[in-house]
Amino acid sequence: MAQRPVWMDEDLDAFRDLARTFCAKELTPNIERWIENKQVDRELWRKAGEVGLLCLSIPEEYGGGGGTFAHEVVLLEEQARAGDSGWGVSLHNGIVAHYVLAYGTEEQKHAWLPKLASGEWVGAIAMTEPGAGSDLQAIKTRAVRDGDEYVVTGTKTFITNGGQCDFVVVVAKTDPTKGAEGTSLVIVEADRPGFRHGRVLDKIGQKSQDTAELFFDDVRVPATNLLGTAEGQGFIQLMNQLPQERLIIGVSSVVAMELALAETLRYTKERQAFGRPVYHFQNTKFTLAEVATETHIARLFLDDCVAKHLRGELDIPTVAMLKWWTSDRAMKAIDECLQLHGGYGYMTEYPIARIYTDQRVQRIYGGTNEIMKEIISRSL
Ligand SMILES: Cc1cc2nc3c(=O)[nH]c(=O)nc-3n(C[C@H](O)[C@H](O)[C@H](O)COP(=O)(O)OP(=O)(O)OC[C@H]3O[C@@H](n4cnc5c(N)ncnc54)[C@H](O)[C@@H]3O)c2cc1C
Repeated sequence: MAQRPVWMDEDLDAFRDLARTFCAKELTPNIERWIENKQVDRELWRKAGEVGLLCLSIPEEYGGGGGTFAHEVVLLEEQARAGDSGWGVSLHNGIVAHYVLAYGTEEQKHAWLPKLASGEWVGAIAMTEPGAGSDLQAIKTRAVRDGDEYVVTGTKTFITNGGQCDFVVVVAKTDPTKGAEGTSLVIVEADRPGFRHGRVLDKIGQKSQDTAELFFDDVRVPATNLLGTAEGQGFIQLMNQLPQERLIIGVSSVVAMELALAETLRYTKERQAFGRPVYHFQNTKFTLAEVATETHIARLFLDDCVAKHLRGELDIPTVAMLKWWTSDRAMKAIDECLQLHGGYGYMTEYPIARIYTDQRVQRIYGGTNEIMKEIISRSL
């Protein structure tokens, strides 16, 4: 029933084989250990860099793969199908590197992107603070100009790749009197004195993802670490990049629905109750018919958004619709699928339990679903 996405082509088929092989070899066998360690192996990034899986959609002249956003989607799909939710590659590839590509000067792009593409550096983006998430204008982190340097001070939290990151795009106030126009993006490399990785946080899902706090204690960076050429561009830069981040969340949500459906079909056709497979109860069939329908609709909506994004036509309200709707529907569908597993659905060794806990955050990060509805309503 699933149809081939309109944006797939032969080049992407070949790339999917490469991504699938890598994920089966390098991710699946290590997942339990990574969950225990609360992080993937740092070496994974190097290995991925060597086979060309980092910075897939960054031009080759900056060390990237020269592909498109479709390559990022394929990698994300294969990562999820391999059962991993810890490797923060979609953020590194699809978000952090793209801030540099979109706003960096030629010098910045040549200096930073090759290191992100080789896996020498792991990237992170630090917007959220203990006292400011949805209300980003309330951030307190400061980047104060002092001669040829900025002095960065503040605390960030919930930062994906926060435990391992070497390169952080920091959202900071360069002029606190100006609100949104006083906000800038400043790069902080992790080896600068005064920078500290905080503890890796305990989460209900995505347990092998090293989500962490970051501390900036009078960290001095050269003034050339300001992303772009002028202060005060931070909010516009964020506005323009957040759609791709939300599209990535749409991809993860739809793949999670597809996986949950496949797992539940397999399980209910095997599991016996009252002398017949659980699948044969009308409730099971109707529930899965509904889940299959919503999954199909979600996939079509997603593929339409991916195709539009590849043409440069995806607008902010539409991707906000995709983000809230797919993450919300996925959560409902996965909950129904978990129910059909009975008590086994509550056991973390069953894939459906992991899909359930991993999915929950998709309604929260990348801008909460409530904020997505605010954005949509402004366009109506
Ligand atoms: C696992 C994980 C990874 C993350 N990764 C990153 C990362 O890499 N980088 C980063 O910067 N951040 C990251 N975040 C942070 C994430 O983006 C924020 O948690 C999110 O934006 C919400 O902010 P908050 O937690 O401060 O919640 P709040 O903003 O305090 O929201 C609390 C509740 O109030 C609601 N609310 C707030 N404002 C409104 C409004 N105007 N109208 C209606 N309801 C509203 C929210 O929707 C929510 O339900 C991550 C979070 C998690 C959990």
